[in-house]
Amino acid sequence: MINQARLILKRVFGYDEFRPFQAEIIADVLNKKDVLVVMPTGGGKSLCYQIPALIFEGLTVVVSPLISLMKDQVAQLTQSGIGAAVLNSSLSPEQYRRNVGLVKQAKARLLYLAPEALLRSSMLDLLATVNVECLAIDEAHCISQWGHDFRPEYRRLVEARSHFPQAACMALTATATPRVREDIKTSLNLAAGSEFVASFNRENLFIQIVAKDHPVEQTIGFIQKFSDQSGIIYCYSRKQVEELNGVLRDKGFSVRPYHAGLSAVERSRNQEAFIRDDVQIIVATIAFGMGIDKPNVRFVVHFDLPKNIESYYQEIGRAGRDGLKSHCLLLFSYADVQKIKYFIDQKDSREKRVANIHLNALVGFVQSEVCRRIALLHYFGENYGSGKCNMCDNCLAREKEQLDITVHAQKFLSCVRRTGERFGGNHIIDVLRGSRAKKVLQFGHHKLSTYGIGADYSKKQWQQLARQFLNKGLMSQDMEFGGLKLTPKGWEVLRGDMPVGGQLEQEAAPRVNTPAKAGELNCDGRLFEILRKKRKQLADDSGVPPYVIFSDKTLVEMAAYFPQSTEGLMDIYGIGAVKLDRFGALFLDIIRRYCRENNISQRSRGSGNNPK
Ligand code: ADP
Ligand code: ZN
Repeated sequence: MINQARLILKRVFGYDEFRPFQAEIIADVLNKKDVLVVMPTGGGKSLCYQIPALIFEGLTVVVSPLISLMKDQVAQLTQSGIGAAVLNSSLSPEQYRRNVGLVKQAKARLLYLAPEALLRSSMLDLLATVNVECLAIDEAHCISQWGHDFRPEYRRLVEARSHFPQAACMALTATATPRVREDIKTSLNLAAGSEFVASFNRENLFIQIVAKDHPVEQTIGFIQKFSDQSGIIYCYSRKQVEELNGVLRDKGFSVRPYHAGLSAVERSRNQEAFIRDDVQIIVATIAFGMGIDKPNVRFVVHFDLPKNIESYYQEIGRAGRDGLKSHCLLLFSYADVQKIKYFIDQKDSREKRVANIHLNALVGFVQSEVCRRIALLHYFGENYGSGKCNMCDNCLAREKEQLDITVHAQKFLSCVRRTGERFGGNHIIDVLRGSRAKKVLQFGHHKLSTYGIGADYSKKQWQQLARQFLNKGLMSQDMEFGGLKLTPKGWEVLRGDMPVGGQLEQEAAPRVNTPAKAGELNCDGRLFEILRKKRKQLADDSGVPPYVIFSDKTLVEMAAYFPQSTEGLMDIYGIGAVKLDRFGALFLDIIRRYCRENNISQRSRGSGNNPK
């Protein structure tokens, strides 16, 4: 049966290989075994029930909490020629009747339902007339009070199970914590054994964290590099969202805001515009993202600090679901830490303690100098073996030339000490640079021996140095007041017992390095644009998001391999038989014409232009 699954993978979905665990999970489901599937967002969970659904004689019921997600999946399946339907209250009576008909006549292989809809007696009656072979529970963490999105209706799903004793039960989630996993298994009565936990490493995400000194300029500088591409900018508050959205709009960016203060209509309009590629950027609070399946989000900016590592991971996880390289930029400042602390302090004592632990872990992650993936995956209980990903700022920084900055460190640390280890970085820098600032004079710091010994470097440069000293653990910063103190390691440096290597920046604007990753595909940008326009037109004609027609990766491959025939097209990522039939000729025409006009011929996969 697994061979049949492989065939469907290629014919229907247009993919050559299973991702880790997909084959095993599908085999278990086909053998009617219960499974718990834990995979990161974009990991490929849906395929794990969609493929068995096409092999089973009977029906697969998919429970999902969000109407928008269900609609999206049904649209995608329909485009691939798979019969799928949704039954919910948003349908008109005729549509509802029509979809019931599809289920009764076994024309729908998959039926998407909200949990409360599944438990209604009329629905159970309907399902009793068809053979339900698989019950797939998506976003299964909603069943757990320990998860981040508890939904009481999910608790009752165990009842639903008893109505379909023949059906395999699948629970799927992107929440990795063991506590939630246990909760899912016990609440759903899943048979022991089949648990698949995929790696949470998202290797196509470039992770970068920079000090937030001119956030608006930094953000603009960053997003300018992504012309015509989709991205999300997360802010802490509604006010900040509106402000930044206004600034970016005035600068001519294609942006829309999203936060809980907007009306439901406005929110869904903005979200829809983003999904359909009518708008490039969404500036949002964390209210945005749940239920967004858009695969071609190329960047996520954290304009403000996220609450904790788990939210950060969830939020950056919305980038690059299609597997193409995507950028995640976090602007970090201690002022933001204070802001979050302030809100934490309003909570009761137990909550406060937990929230503080999470915040401290996040700050530790931000300050750490090792590969970002080590720290991030460690949080999810995973060991990141290689220790160097080359897809994060720290890994790249290590490649850059290290200068001897021992003397700079000694000057700085000595100034920290002489001012009594209670001042923040900016004051220390003022003293080092010989500033006549009121605070300097008021404390008599212009009389210190370290006064003015750092005048040959700019404030910016010192700030950047200070960050490195913090990162290297030469000094620590008081979480509440921001005062700097020497650590034992700092003392060693001051005594001259330990050299310090690091960087001395000429400019402090954010560097957004785009390392050429081995195996990344070079494609013809002009052809890609032409194909993208065609895709948009087709999508608008049938009222679906563009990615439902073809993913970006599919277009990238077309614009890299220039297929000239139907066979050539079939080798392209994400083109199954139905899509080939529906759109193949249209795209082939464009590619052929482009190749004729530009004297280009088809390229093979082996010709040094290998996609991953
Ligand atoms: P999840 O539900 O885990 O967030 P999805 O099921 O939406 O992830 O899958 C993310 C993307 O990866 C989709 O575009 C999907 O078609 C694609 N995908 C899934 N499995 C494979 C595979 N084996 N090969 C290539 N692409 C895949
Ligand atoms: Zn790294």
